[in-house]
Amino acid sequence: MTNAAHPFDALMDITARPSTVFVRGEGSFLWDETGKRYLDFVQGWAVNCLGHSPPEIAEALTAQAKLLLTPSPAFYNAPSLKLAKALVDYSCFDQVFFTNSGAEANEGAIKLARKYGALHRNGAYEVITFEGAFHGRTLATMSASGKKAFEPLFEPKVSGFPKAQLNDLASVARLINDKTVGVMLEPIQGEAGVWPATDRFLRELRTLTREHGLLLILDEIQTGIGRTGKLFHYEHAGIEPDIMTLGKGIGGGVPLAALLATAAASCFEHGDQGGTFNGNPLMCAAGLAVLQRVSDPDFLKSVVDTGLYLESELQRMSARHGLGDVRGRGLLLALDLKHPIGASIVAQAFEEGVLLNSPQPDALRFMAALNVTREEIVGMIDCLDTILTKMGAARRVA
Ligand SMILES: *Cc1c(COP(=O)(O)O)cnc(C)c1O
Repeated sequence: MTNAAHPFDALMDITARPSTVFVRGEGSFLWDETGKRYLDFVQGWAVNCLGHSPPEIAEALTAQAKLLLTPSPAFYNAPSLKLAKALVDYSCFDQVFFTNSGAEANEGAIKLARKYGALHRNGAYEVITFEGAFHGRTLATMSASGKKAFEPLFEPKVSGFPKAQLNDLASVARLINDKTVGVMLEPIQGEAGVWPATDRFLRELRTLTREHGLLLILDEIQTGIGRTGKLFHYEHAGIEPDIMTLGKGIGGGVPLAALLATAAASCFEHGDQGGTFNGNPLMCAAGLAVLQRVSDPDFLKSVVDTGLYLESELQRMSARHGLGDVRGRGLLLALDLKHPIGASIVAQAFEEGVLLNSPQPDALRFMAALNVTREEIVGMIDCLDTILTKMGAARRVA
């Protein structure tokens, strides 16, 4: 082994990162090792739903760490039983399997659908997914994703994921055959740039899948746990899916995700599914602290109100600078920039101490903590205003 030339060199270089090391977070703010403060509208990628290091999660983790870290997934533990019961009580699902990442939850959903197909649909295994979809980075979830950049990677892909177009029911119906077992989608395509499925499309999809005896699988890893103003996004459409996955916000910053299924769809047998850390008490204790806060109707109402405020502030700013529409729901919003200036804005905002995300060259995505304040929103908008004014002036001079 050679010594790494620079501390960064010891990590696999999997993405471009600024040469900043973050050392502390509190609420909507992060601090780097030089003491510079950042206003955070990325929040660990829509993960820290209660902001950075909220006291209730710190306390839950500390208390649980002193009590029991993990007894092994072959034994029951109290926090996972409590969290599963709470998720079942708050949703239309009957059973839960906890995982460590969203991709692993989706991988589990795909396995569950294939198991269902083996048991009930003559070995059907195809899951219809959508162009633009993002379901994770395991081989099967990359194959299920409809992300163009994934297409040439890691061939051969896992087969059985024909792609339909979002909000186009006929494109789904055309792909249904006797090998089809389910349809899987994000209610809002997050990584693709915040493109919502309409409530009507979700309802039509529920009807279509019922007619054909297919499973409806919702990937709510980004939209779940209050992000869109309901505890789960499917509630907006008034539908009940058969399978749902959660991740990101459910751990409030720690690695926790979940696969949920109705009694009819929950068909794993012993040996089909598992994992060393599944349902470990430490992560489930954090999940319980998150759910306690986010399931409060007053909290969800505040997400709706704050989301509407952010939306209107973004619209006003967009009008000032001649940009495009705001899309999304609750506190998962994107601004259409109409030009490929996303990366440049993100870099300038970083310098100014504001963390933003550009999921596509012509869009900014806002993933604030669900308890972000109006003052913090104003701070972010002011920063954007300054940057856009500067860029507008530069364009006029050029
Ligand atoms: C983030 C995300 C995933 C993947 O979750 P990981 O925890 O990164 O594996 C899957 N689906 C959606 C919709 C996501 O936003």
